[in-house]
Amino acid sequence: MSKYQSYKETVLQYSQRLSQNRYTVGTGGNISLLIEGENAIAITPTAMDYFGIHVDDICIVDFDMNILEGKLKPSIETKMHIEVYKNRLDVNAIIHTHQVYASIFALINEPIPALFDEVTLNTGHIIDVIPYALSGSQQLSQNIVNQLNNRCNCYFIQNHGALSLGMSIENAYRNVELLEKISRTYYYALASGRPITKLPDAVVARLCKNLHERQDQEIARKKAGQAYRLN
Ligand SMILES: [Zn+2]
Repeated sequence: MSKYQSYKETVLQYSQRLSQNRYTVGTGGNISLLIEGENAIAITPTAMDYFGIHVDDICIVDFDMNILEGKLKPSIETKMHIEVYKNRLDVNAIIHTHQVYASIFALINEPIPALFDEVTLNTGHIIDVIPYALSGSQQLSQNIVNQLNNRCNCYFIQNHGALSLGMSIENAYRNVELLEKISRTYYYALASGRPITKLPDAVVARLCKNLHERQDQEIARKKAGQAYRLN
């Protein structure tokens, strides 16, 4: 059995959950998990229905894009996932979706500010829009990298969809759910034409401090692990 088996099983399980809950349709979207202690990820294959694939179809790809395991072609967005892991050491799981309400904001090119405690605590002070570039292109990866230093966990990708990050797959999936909830609510609030209240700045700062502390702990844990391996 592959040493990556549990990672593959988790990626498959969450891919199917994503389809089942209609956060993505058809073969759209993709999920990856960072392999603990390696510069490699488990990621969904490209253009495959998630209910038509087997656990062994999940690809294991290293940071240089070499396929370590899997016969199918990895997602065309693999490079984009790798760039996120390289640039955000707190992240261990990434979910890219074409979820409907979030996609509205990817079309009207409008960020969502801090509106609810539970969302801000998990996703950060803003859900910003990453400028458009063709799927799978180097330019799209670069546009994403340029945005990652806001330390947030959810982004809209202009004219495309959304990106949710997490310290674990559970966190990333919860962020997908929170993203859809806030997008849906904010859409209806905007449509009402009434003034919209935002969270007070002091509260946003406090919630983000909490998020950043958790991220810093994970970065420290990872760096300690790397130091151990070098010795
Ligand atoms: Zn996509």
